[in-house]
Amino acid sequence: MGSARERRYQVLLVDLDGTVVDYARTEDCALREVHRRFFRGGPAGPSGLPDLRDLPAFLRAFHAANQPLWAAYRERRMDLSELRLERWARLGAGPGVAAAFEEALGRGTVLFPEAYGALRRLSRRFRLALVTDGIARVQRVKLRRTRIHRFFEHVVIAPEVGLRKPDGALLHHALSLLEAKPDEALMVGDSPVSDGGCAREAGVDFCWVDRTGAAPVPGVPVRLTVPHLAAL
Ligand SMILES: [Mg+2]
Repeated sequence: MGSARERRYQVLLVDLDGTVVDYARTEDCALREVHRRFFRGGPAGPSGLPDLRDLPAFLRAFHAANQPLWAAYRERRMDLSELRLERWARLGAGPGVAAAFEEALGRGTVLFPEAYGALRRLSRRFRLALVTDGIARVQRVKLRRTRIHRFFEHVVIAPEVGLRKPDGALLHHALSLLEAKPDEALMVGDSPVSDGGCAREAGVDFCWVDRTGAAPVPGVPVRLTVPHLAAL
């Protein structure tokens, strides 16, 4: 971030999953464990679904259930307390499986390779706040396990403050904790819809961490694009 305009940032608001935590890998490991414990030797699963004893079929069925529920959550049609159970209910599984999955997510959290060093370096140049959405106790375990808590002046977990991405109010809450103004801050995240959306609503510039070279999302202004945190 070399230009004069970019140097005006004093605060980075940093997303967790998909930005700092390699969520796809973390989730995949947790799903494989849950499959091994609860599905591989169990019944075939609900009618209308493929045989969930088969791992690839199980993984596809989970994502097919999970993704639209997160969209419903962002659109305020569902709360996290419902989402965490409903994604497993759709696979014929109960609260015990939901809890085992969340425990495995926290226990197996994997950072992107550059993330720890990049956060350490950035924390010397900027004031950092973590702004994450998701099941609060799982997010807390991820922070503790990966020891990245130390780099952030504040940790804002959306459901703990009664908000969710892409609410602009979530970033205003983080900025009020930091006593900073929107034009002093940069929101850093992997999701144009969630992170870019709340940045736009809050009047904060958005830095898109685009690891896959995805197409921009119409209507979401992007101030900077980086392929990973070390490029920031
Ligand atoms: Mg994310």
